[in-house]
Amino acid sequence: MRKPIIVGNWKMNKTIAEAVDFIKAVDPVCHDGATYGVGTSFLALQDSVKHAKNLIIAAENCHFADSGAFTGEVSVPMLEEIGVKYCIIGHSERRQMFGDTDESVNKKAKRLIDADITPIVCIGETEAQYDAGETETVIRSQLSGSLADLCPDCVKGIVVAYEPIWAIGTGKSATKEDAQKCCHIVRDQIEKMYGKEAADAVRIQYGGSVKPENIVEYMACPDIDGALIGGASLKADSFTEIINKTK
Ligand code: PGA
Repeated sequence: MRKPIIVGNWKMNKTIAEAVDFIKAVDPVCHDGATYGVGTSFLALQDSVKHAKNLIIAAENCHFADSGAFTGEVSVPMLEEIGVKYCIIGHSERRQMFGDTDESVNKKAKRLIDADITPIVCIGETEAQYDAGETETVIRSQLSGSLADLCPDCVKGIVVAYEPIWAIGTGKSATKEDAQKCCHIVRDQIEKMYGKEAADAVRIQYGGSVKPENIVEYMACPDIDGALIGGASLKADSFTEIINKTK
């Protein structure tokens, strides 16, 4: 049985004080039915980790090198030192605006796994690729690059977030049928790469305009084990509603 995992991705939102206020409000609402968490800015990570008893706290990126001349970057040992246990990597905004590639995502995944930090590996097609019927090809190719050369046992512990780019922040969420179909392709590709045991264990999230009104229908899909949630994770009220609806 896979334990569901629902993570808010705050992106470049919330100061440290705002992050702590949210955590104080939402942490007590969490329950054992699922893993709940939030991705915060690098700055808010340390205080967030201190205040969260139930929520897991995720970084939203990392560098694959341990140290060196990489101005403005944050390394995995730095995250490790402050007790971060999850890290979102390869989000489409990072791929589109900051040059992340399957190759760099793969290096980040490897370094995180070495540090015992769970990578949440994001993939997903653009609207043009969706319209051209290329979704399956894109998903398979992003996974074969981003998850290349990992040990099958390590793959069992990772999280993959399938997020069609046209659904992110647009209010235009994928139908549950489309989301299930794509999450199934993700699982099938992982089976091809690492075998059935790894594929059965890996947790797959859907992301893209998930909100309290549609979370339940996604969670009911057999290959969807959770969600990565942007906009609807910013307000304590709506994230609490999501937590309550996924009991
Ligand atoms: P959204 O963002 O829920 O606002 O669509 C999802 C994401 O970017 O992870």
